[in-house]
Amino acid sequence: MGARKSTRRAGLGQAWASDTQPEGDVIDALDRYFMLRYSGGLLYLPQDPRIAAAAAGSERDGTWFVLRADAPDAAFNHQRQALAGGYGCREDRECPACPVETIGSGTWHEAMSLRRARGIVPQQLDVPDVRVPAPIRPPRYNRILDGCWDIPKEAR
Ligand SMILES: [Zn+2]
Repeated sequence: MGARKSTRRAGLGQAWASDTQPEGDVIDALDRYFMLRYSGGLLYLPQDPRIAAAAAGSERDGTWFVLRADAPDAAFNHQRQALAGGYGCREDRECPACPVETIGSGTWHEAMSLRRARGIVPQQLDVPDVRVPAPIRPPRYNRILDGCWDIPKEAR
């Protein structure tokens, strides 16, 4: 029964792909820029600069970090450890403990200026706050504590 259901879903996906003809998508796989927001003791997941540019109102609150890394999880782990302390990651330009570069930090406006100064002028991309089902679902943020961090229940 489960295999039949799975086959049916795969068939629907193939039908959608052949009807829709989606365009290919290309991203830079190395040295990507990410923006991370730290507000109220919470470190939010890394954002593509285009999505961060669309932040409005209280979504702009806190300190923003502009990082360059190969992957969003590397950027998040680095910033979480730099904020919590005791893990070797620091907000130096080039981290001594991992391959993440800190471009700078400040308010949302200052972070946007940092991007522009580096020639990063992404088009604002306003996307809905959705997540796809996945076996491992990352929390929306971590709470930074003195020397460690945790995942509040409401972040899941
Ligand atoms: Zn680091």
